[in-house]
Amino acid sequence: MAYEEDFKQTSEAKYDCLLFDIDDTLYPLSSGLAMQVKTNIQEYMTQKLGIEEAKVQELCLALYKIYGTTMAGLKAVGYDFDYDDFHSFVHGRLPYSTLKPDPILRNIILSLPIRKVVFTNADKAHAAKIISKLGLEGCFEKVISFETLNPINKTETPHDTKTREIFDIISYMANPDPQVELPKTPVICKPSEGAFEQVFKMANINPKKTLFFDDSIRNIQTGKRVGLHTIWVGTSQREEGVDMALEHIHNIREALPELWEAVEEKGEELRTRQKVAIETIA
Ligand SMILES: [Mg+2]
Repeated sequence: MAYEEDFKQTSEAKYDCLLFDIDDTLYPLSSGLAMQVKTNIQEYMTQKLGIEEAKVQELCLALYKIYGTTMAGLKAVGYDFDYDDFHSFVHGRLPYSTLKPDPILRNIILSLPIRKVVFTNADKAHAAKIISKLGLEGCFEKVISFETLNPINKTETPHDTKTREIFDIISYMANPDPQVELPKTPVICKPSEGAFEQVFKMANINPKKTLFFDDSIRNIQTGKRVGLHTIWVGTSQREEGVDMALEHIHNIREALPELWEAVEEKGEELRTRQKVAIETIA
């Protein structure tokens, strides 16, 4: 309960931006899309990258843990593939029809006259598809997707795949050697602090005045470290770095009534000022 008090105090500060993740945040995990994404990633690894089926699950987990996303990890350990090819394989076959328009969320978002920005690790096409399926077009000032943070340099010389060696991360994890440095990923994504800092610059976001909504505890905890006010979506659990937990994104209004109160106060102030101005003129 103590942190609830802290949060109430913190929330008295003015917010000027809402920063949203998309997947499993703007729609619930129960939609089943996340499970399908996982299956598609594993199929990509066996079918396109030739990784042994028996190793795929363990590898996915290790890469996800170390690099934030499986894709970022695959690139780090030396697999060479096209970002667009990966995204179209993983997201192209998703059952988007399971998502329905969400007029409640649309109303919530549009009733707040403050900035709303999306920050997702997914690609632009997937982000646009979800926003459209949920009926949330026009709700966000900016959508920051994979391509925003990882613009492809078309003039880059393609890697010679035959000479590339794959770093055996599973063996490394089983027996970590402090002398061996882990390969770095070229991919910029959550939960790296650098990705957040870049988003703040790109979208002109002041983290101290921003509420950040995400379903991933790692993203939430990084968000907290870089100064955001954090709302963990999809759970009622409490963890370090979480300012508030919302079981469903629809609970924003009940959980953060001060956002709307601030709007009403502003309206009242404006009406008073207009009245004074009219009276002065008269
Ligand atoms: Mg998510």
